[in-house]
Amino acid sequence: MAEKAQAVERETVMVDGVALTPQWSRMFEPRPITGYDLSVLDEVTAIPGAESLGWCYQCGKCTAVCPVDTVGDFSPRKVFRRTQLGTPLLDSPDLWLCTTCSNCLRVCPKEVNMIQIMPAVREQAVADGQAPQELLSAFENTARYGNPLGEPARKRADWVKQAGVPVPIMSQHPDPVDVLWFVECYPAYHPRGQEASVALARILNALGVDFGILGREEKCSGDSQRMAGEAGLFEMLAEHNIKTLSQYMFNEVLVTDPHAYNALLHEYPKFGGEWPTRHYTQFLAPRIGDMAFRRELPWRVTFHDPCYLGRHNGEYEAPRQLLQAIPGLELVEMGRCRENAYCCGGGGGGMWMDSFTAEFTSMRLSEKRVLEAIEYGAEVLAVTCPYEVSRFEDAVKSTGNTGRLQVMDIAELLAKSMALVD
Ligand code: SF4
Ligand code: SF4
Repeated sequence: MAEKAQAVERETVMVDGVALTPQWSRMFEPRPITGYDLSVLDEVTAIPGAESLGWCYQCGKCTAVCPVDTVGDFSPRKVFRRTQLGTPLLDSPDLWLCTTCSNCLRVCPKEVNMIQIMPAVREQAVADGQAPQELLSAFENTARYGNPLGEPARKRADWVKQAGVPVPIMSQHPDPVDVLWFVECYPAYHPRGQEASVALARILNALGVDFGILGREEKCSGDSQRMAGEAGLFEMLAEHNIKTLSQYMFNEVLVTDPHAYNALLHEYPKFGGEWPTRHYTQFLAPRIGDMAFRRELPWRVTFHDPCYLGRHNGEYEAPRQLLQAIPGLELVEMGRCRENAYCCGGGGGGMWMDSFTAEFTSMRLSEKRVLEAIEYGAEVLAVTCPYEVSRFEDAVKSTGNTGRLQVMDIAELLAKSMALVD
């Protein structure tokens, strides 16, 4: 067998007229990776679901797209590095800053998956009672009342009184319907959510859709609670809703909330509840031809893609088709849109942690987004997730832009143009 040539170290070697010395290959000290005490990182990656945090190789792509890093100091890369250096993630504010928007996963070459890491590690923190108090209150409300707002179940269908059109409640009219509308908590209880629900009920009536709602029998879908670390509560809610839905005959589920959409599409089937499910924009877009538009809305409108409709579930077109169908409306896109859309800050439990998050960020994500919409000259910020109306309206006020930007659900814009609401 031929002997391997031995490496010879020369004093200098000329390459393309440049004198190289061995020093060139010693410019960087070998990084003493194995010199770290990795026990803290190992503890985190040993949690089922959190393994991929250990796959990070520090390329930094996630930092460029993480919405939280634009107002703070946070990204998967930073979480990995701090954990590698010995900061226990379970005690760190980092554990609660991620909104599970999924933009990092879109660009990460190593598939470090915060959508799995965050709920897994948070679940352990919640079990140890280490979650922010305001989040624990939202969990408690959900467990006690079936919604994070702490409203009584008997009021869940009160908004129907304002609808001015028939909104059948399944328990009172248990005949089969074509469409079962899963309304969700904010559209049922929040005053601005109720306005969007009234608008959607009128549109469905105008289109002659045969539908019904669950009313007080419906509970929160629980998807955000799951992402915030309350898997047990989520399971309880899923089982309740699946049992309730299973009592009735319908052809498909219509949801107002992208978080409920996500739960019904991907999580409820794991518990035996599987139905054809569409977000209301997906349900309405093919019916544009049946909509009688009576008013022009001569407004410059921009659209905020909800993370759980867009990035999580790939729907970018239906909301835009609806907006573009409204006569007079001019749709302008913000730079961060579609796959790279910014986040309102409400996902992954962020909806209930604004005070906590404020300590670690320079402004709310919703405020940043509102300022962006204004930069693009928008008069209306169109939304299609019930978390967003209240978040962005608060942000319009807190950034001193009252009167400069309106926040409207797409259902409200459609109903307005169809002369179904004032
Ligand atoms: S994109 Fe992925 S691999 Fe790169 S730094 Fe972020 S988490 Fe690490
Ligand atoms: S999911 Fe979103 S908020 Fe969370 S780390 Fe990734 S980019 Fe940042």
